[in-house]
Amino acid sequence: MSDKLYTKTVHELHQLMKTKKVSSVELVTAIYERIEQVDDKVKAYLTLTKAAALIEAQKVDKRIADAKEIGPLEGIPVAIKDNMCTEGVKTTCASKILANYIPPYNATAVTELEDDGAIILGKLNMDEFAMGSSCENSAFFPTHNPWNLKTVPGGSSGGSAAAVAADEAPFALGSDTGGSIRQPASFCGVVGMKPTYGRVSRYGLVAFASSLDQIGPLAKDVTDTAIIMNVICGYDPYDSTSIDKKVPDHTKALTGKLDEIKTVGVVKELLGKGISPEVKKSIEEAIKVYEKLGAKIKMISMPSFEYALSCYYLVATAEASSNLARYDGVKFGLRSADSPDLLSMYYNTRREGFGPEVKRRIMLGTYALSSGYYDAYYLKAQKIRTLIKRDFEAAFKEVDVLISPTTPTVAFNIGEKSDDPLSMYLSDIATIPINLAGIPAISIPCGLAKGLPIGLQIMGNVLEEEKIIKAAYAFEQKTKWHKERPKL
Ligand code: GLN
Repeated sequence: MSDKLYTKTVHELHQLMKTKKVSSVELVTAIYERIEQVDDKVKAYLTLTKAAALIEAQKVDKRIADAKEIGPLEGIPVAIKDNMCTEGVKTTCASKILANYIPPYNATAVTELEDDGAIILGKLNMDEFAMGSSCENSAFFPTHNPWNLKTVPGGSSGGSAAAVAADEAPFALGSDTGGSIRQPASFCGVVGMKPTYGRVSRYGLVAFASSLDQIGPLAKDVTDTAIIMNVICGYDPYDSTSIDKKVPDHTKALTGKLDEIKTVGVVKELLGKGISPEVKKSIEEAIKVYEKLGAKIKMISMPSFEYALSCYYLVATAEASSNLARYDGVKFGLRSADSPDLLSMYYNTRREGFGPEVKRRIMLGTYALSSGYYDAYYLKAQKIRTLIKRDFEAAFKEVDVLISPTTPTVAFNIGEKSDDPLSMYLSDIATIPINLAGIPAISIPCGLAKGLPIGLQIMGNVLEEEKIIKAAYAFEQKTKWHKERPKL
């Protein structure tokens, strides 16, 4: 029965377990075999927790044997981006500075999964401190895109997207500050969702830019995404920005119809300059699918998007410079040896511990916050952030959801942009405005070009995850893109 178990979705695996055709131990074993087969090439994982996973799987199997009903994630393996704290398991943020850090507690999202019986397989590679769009900023090694090993999987949750695409995990958690779930999901041909800011607790997520960071799922299809959202969303008293509102059953949105979604908006600015012809073509095809589903299509202009990238790289770096001040060699992780005094210990620890992109961001952020420049840069960026929010508010008065490409191009080659940070930053042009506004969005597969996946981004108003899932599922039912898999 373990034949190709690793290719199955969460909802398929749940059926197999419920009907006792497969045990959790069988499933976990099959996935680790798959990891052994392909991870030499893909390099999605930083840490594997096989012994603990098998013990947990045995416990679940006992529960399955006794109980009549099992939950949708019970006994299902999951992998976690390495910036979410896992009690007793290394959490490195793919940084030398945390290379040996073992947290004494779990992130709330991880606890939620474990409480629902999910089995943690291990921790996934990422760009150092989630800063990047290609997974090349990992201090350890780059992850490769399973569709073409010469290309990047995207980032910063590149390990999460690659693991799901390569069937090395049925689903994964990622984090998204400016696109880090959706952009790699797009590059790797999987589904990735960034929930409304505050919908999933950030407690135990190592902070990059606290006003933008959000945890979300990467999965093989929209159904799985809805199931995972039901588990990880919800209020958490440990996160003061967490939203205290009832979580709906997201699977109710899986109707295959657009129902109350009457008008689909297309972001004009994200179909013009800088978008590659093959991506544009796929989005135009997607628009036709929505027309066939009965939606009215409306072009929507978002004038503030022109400034979104500049705004993001001020707000995100400012917050990062403050958040990363805590890594001083005293409290967490690395401490540089042989420093003659305290100040040189601080300097040396940070010089040795942080990679070039992290240093670049700390310097940019410190500059933007320094007196004399604060008004000119940080404050201005905050004002632009408000304009972006208003553009979305105006748009959602006219349309129910908005669509755009997730990324301007398909996955680029490893090394292609590493010496050019600005061109790397441009790959998040379509995803960044969403984080600045705090709204939810999903990326789903909508095409292939040069053998590489293309992603469709669907955005909704604050707390309208159900509408997004409804629109995404209806699209998925009418197309076959989510069934395409890389040949490894
Ligand atoms: N690529 C963007 C950055 O480098 C977004 C990262 C993220 O979402 N964590 O900041």
